[in-house]
Order: sequence, then C-alpha cells, then structure tokens
Amino acid sequence: MRLSTTTYYVDFAVYPALFTGLVAHGLAPAGLASAATFLIMLVFGVGLWTFIEYLVHRFLFHHAPVLQDLHDAHHAEPHDLIGSPIWTSLPIALVILAGSVWLLGSDAGGGLSAGLVAGYVWYISVHHLSHHGRLYGMRYLYRARRRHALHHACETGNFGVSTDFWDRVFGTVLLSAAANGGAPDNRGAWWTTGRIGRLWGRKPWGALVRLSRPRV
Ligand SMILES: [Zn+2]
Ligand SMILES: [Zn+2]
Repeated sequence: MRLSTTTYYVDFAVYPALFTGLVAHGLAPAGLASAATFLIMLVFGVGLWTFIEYLVHRFLFHHAPVLQDLHDAHHAEPHDLIGSPIWTSLPIALVILAGSVWLLGSDAGGGLSAGLVAGYVWYISVHHLSHHGRLYGMRYLYRARRRHALHHACETGNFGVSTDFWDRVFGTVLLSAAANGGAPDNRGAWWTTGRIGRLWGRKPWGALVRLSRPRV
C-alpha cells in the first residue's frame, strides 16, 4: 500500500535495530556452544528468508486476492513509496520470533529470527536501491536492478529480488522480457546454466559432444 515517507523509511531503522538487539542478546551469554548454535541458525535464517521472499512474491503478491492488488500498485508506480506498513510486518516478525524461540529454544530460535530479520533488511534495501537512488558502483546491485526491472516489465519470472538463486532452481529466470516474448527462459534452470553448466561443458564427454556437433 502507499506509505508516507516516515512509514516507508521507518523499516530501515526498526529492523536493523531489532537485528542488533537479537544478536546482542544471542551472543551475550558467552558460551561457545550457544553462540555457535545462534550463528549457524542465523546463517540458515538468511538462506530461508531468500526462499520465503521468492515464494511470497511469486505466489502471494502475484496471485493472492488482496495482496495482488497492493502489489499491482507497486508494479504500476515503481517509484512511489509503496510497501508493507510496519504495523503489519512487525506483529508477524514478533510472532515468528516468539514461535521459533518457543519451539527451538532461545539460541536456535533467536538465531533463526535474527537471520530472517537480516534477510528482510537485505531484501528491502536491494529493492529500494533497485528503484531509487545510487548503486555505489556495485556490480551486484546493478545486476539486481536489471533483474528486477525485467520482472516489472514481465511478471512471469525473476521473483527473487535479493538473489536469483530460487529463480534458477525453479526455472523462472527472465533473461530478456522482449527476446522471449515474456515467457520465462527455462534454460535458466540451475543444472544447465552458471557454474554447474560450465563445469559440465568442461568435462571430457562435454568436449566429445562439442566435437561431434556438425559445424555450420
Ligand atoms: Zn512483482
Ligand atoms: Zn519493484
């Protein structure tokens, strides 16, 4: 939904503060085992966030009744300050925090929550910089902006904002909205592109396949 300037930017203060509080609380009771559990779960939480981000964007923001209308407004006016207000996201964050601490204990649950919060901050920051402001010469941000611009032009792919990992896994990578008529390029599936695909191409049998191809 359309937000006031304060409501839009308050996320960039509240969630980093929540993350800092969780880390300080998680690492304060010195003890290697609990600190290690906290940090491992934090890393896992960041990874889990990227998957949640993909699923929420692909299936809820583009197909769920009310959320779709709210997200359509962002697609129509990408430079407007549109997002989830903190009075909807913060209760969800606190329920996840309480639930994961209750289920997993304070070390693992606190670490998981800190990771999810860090992932959310990463997501809103990259999404913000994809539409507004400078990219500070960072290649990662240029790629994220281009990837997300293609999603705005064609809504059938590039659902990942912070990473294209899950788009590669599920074959929803958009390489060019114009070139393929808006359909996701399924060659983007992870086993045929990127490092693994190149590795496959370097194998001896990959060379045999290349040599046996008729020259045109
Ligand atoms: Zn979208
Ligand atoms: Zn956007």
